[in-house]
Amino acid sequence: MTTSHYIAGRWVEGQGSDCISVNDPALGLPFAELMAASVAQVDQAVAAARAALPAWKNVSASERAAVLRGFAEQLGERREALITLQMRNNGKPRHEAEIDLDDAIATFAYYAGLAEQLPGKNRDVPLAAPGFSARTRLEPVGVVGLIVPWNFPLVTSAWKLAPALAAGCTVVLKPSEVTPLIEQAYGQIADALGLPAGVLNIVNGKAETGAALSNHSGLDKLSFTGSNSVGSQVMRSASAQCRPVTLELGGKSAIVVFDDCAPDQAVEWIVAGISWNAGQMCSATSRLLVQDGIADVLLPRLQAALDNLRVGNPLTEEVDMGPLTSQAQWLKVASYFATAREEGLQCLAGGQVLEREGWFVSPTLYADVPKESRLWTEEIFGPVLCARRFATEAEAVAEANDSRFGLVATVCSADLERAERVADALEVGHVWINSVQAVFVETSWGGTKGSGIGRELGPWGLSAYQSVKHVTRCLG
Ligand code: NAD
Repeated sequence: MTTSHYIAGRWVEGQGSDCISVNDPALGLPFAELMAASVAQVDQAVAAARAALPAWKNVSASERAAVLRGFAEQLGERREALITLQMRNNGKPRHEAEIDLDDAIATFAYYAGLAEQLPGKNRDVPLAAPGFSARTRLEPVGVVGLIVPWNFPLVTSAWKLAPALAAGCTVVLKPSEVTPLIEQAYGQIADALGLPAGVLNIVNGKAETGAALSNHSGLDKLSFTGSNSVGSQVMRSASAQCRPVTLELGGKSAIVVFDDCAPDQAVEWIVAGISWNAGQMCSATSRLLVQDGIADVLLPRLQAALDNLRVGNPLTEEVDMGPLTSQAQWLKVASYFATAREEGLQCLAGGQVLEREGWFVSPTLYADVPKESRLWTEEIFGPVLCARRFATEAEAVAEANDSRFGLVATVCSADLERAERVADALEVGHVWINSVQAVFVETSWGGTKGSGIGRELGPWGLSAYQSVKHVTRCLG
């Protein structure tokens, strides 16, 4: 892979100093490599986006919608290649890779619809004051930098690209160095659709490339998804330039199981919330709060379900869970296993790396984890579930809310009134009742507290790329 960067409508070779290895995590071996973009190439990408802005923001709403529908269609045409690449580079089981692709397609189709409705949002504003009239106009924020992680590359990029393009922004996207090939599809689609040069630019690279983009003075906004540590650096650069930033950061979310649940159904939800994408989800429900009356029945069944998950290479085996996506993530999860041993936590399932090639760990369950344990408070980003028991609804809510994060939560109860009440009391951005990890493009995505700033998806995702202008005139 030599020409891996899409700048000003052309594929170019990276001129940076970092060589990026693209790995197959099931084998722990590289299958491609590419050179990162240089700081000068980031400059070129931002300049290309700036040059393309005046024309793109004035393209008609229906033309922009047609482009977004084109993205949805072209993703569908690349279906098999994109599913295989996600399986190979992320280690996703096939059905999860399919869900990601379908999510990306749905996102572009949805924002095509919103783009079409945009002219209707520019309207007169009734004023109480006599002698004046006013109208409101929604304008694109301008040139936006988009920095994304590796765990859902097609999806996370779609959640930013589609609304940004719908709003009339031009963009520079920096995918993760762990999965730098997957989002190249978006550049290829831009080419195939004849998108004007500079509307969409893609620069690949590691932290240096990300920092060059987030520090760039030529951006009007930056939207970042990733870790809290990098997010705070990105926020500092936004603050230095006094410009807006959206941050989608980490989580340590709770799944609350009341004792009126059917245990087997609850086990299914709990397992999905911690094993999908091998637990590498910002929204993983990694803190299980289980009510006293059901705990002794539920925990052994949960242990058996985790032990029975088929873990393996998604490209060669029928699996429920693949490897962790990177060696760094594998080492990080292994270090939490070591901490758990040092803390003497009660391990009911897993708790170890697998003795085989590749970056595999076993699905893991610790019971009665103390509130002070790092495993209870920190985002691990792997299939590691920590459980605690509770007696009352108030106790469950207090424990769930006792976190520096506030991304999502799941509530499982046959008493729907109680489930709704608990959902209202949880300090998070999204709650699932008797379901798990179902994200629809019409709903919002984003967190409270340390989980970030701003919302993606739905009309909120579009607003994130719009600026409101009012025109007020004297009728005098
Ligand atoms: P990360 O923060 O290490 O990297 C994210 C991106 O930032 C990558 O593209 C990386 O190259 C870039 N980057 C690294 N250093 C940078 C710097 N100094 N300046 C600018 N950019 C820089 O995160 P990750 O390991 O790729 O992803 C995992 C994290 O992402 C987890 O914490 C997870 O919770 C979070 N995440 C959040 C959401 C959400 O919607 N809230 C979704 C997915 C992942």
